[in-house]
Amino acid sequence: MNRFTSRTGLFAAVTVLAVASLAGIAIASGGVNTGGGGGGKKGGKGAAFPVSGKHTYGDGLGAGRGHEGQDILAGCRKPIVAAKPGRVRYIDYQASGAGNYAVIKGKKFDYVYMHMIHKPSVKKGERVKAGEKIGRVGSTGRSTACHLHFEMWRKPGWYRGGRIVNPKPFLKRWDRR
Ligand SMILES: [Zn+2]
Repeated sequence: MNRFTSRTGLFAAVTVLAVASLAGIAIASGGVNTGGGGGGKKGGKGAAFPVSGKHTYGDGLGAGRGHEGQDILAGCRKPIVAAKPGRVRYIDYQASGAGNYAVIKGKKFDYVYMHMIHKPSVKKGERVKAGEKIGRVGSTGRSTACHLHFEMWRKPGWYRGGRIVNPKPFLKRWDRR
């Protein structure tokens, strides 16, 4: 089963940063965050920046190609943590797109984490806290550099009729903690 079957081109969006190396070059928009700050720390209100350590913002929503999330460039194998608490809705692998990915159903949104280096370290149905490690940054699927592709979808959620929300303002807020 493949829920992407009828969505040709969907994951063209997931692409990424053909040129970007992790050398710290900020692509498209976005400042460089020298890290340390948000990375994986649990936020005061139950939120956490989803990548540990130094990171830069890559392509955002749209990006002229229907990109459905925000790319965050970070070192390969850096921990990815849950941005918000929730229950793991899907764990899957998609060679042509998302690579190793997890979808976590939160209170308001579904949070999607793609291109992990290995299978996520959480299981379907499991509850996770904000700041809890769920995997590691990688470049699996359609990706050319280690990065986290992060999406947020309103209820009823990811490919369940929910709408995509621009995650960048949320990320910026969590990044400041
Ligand atoms: Zn992306």
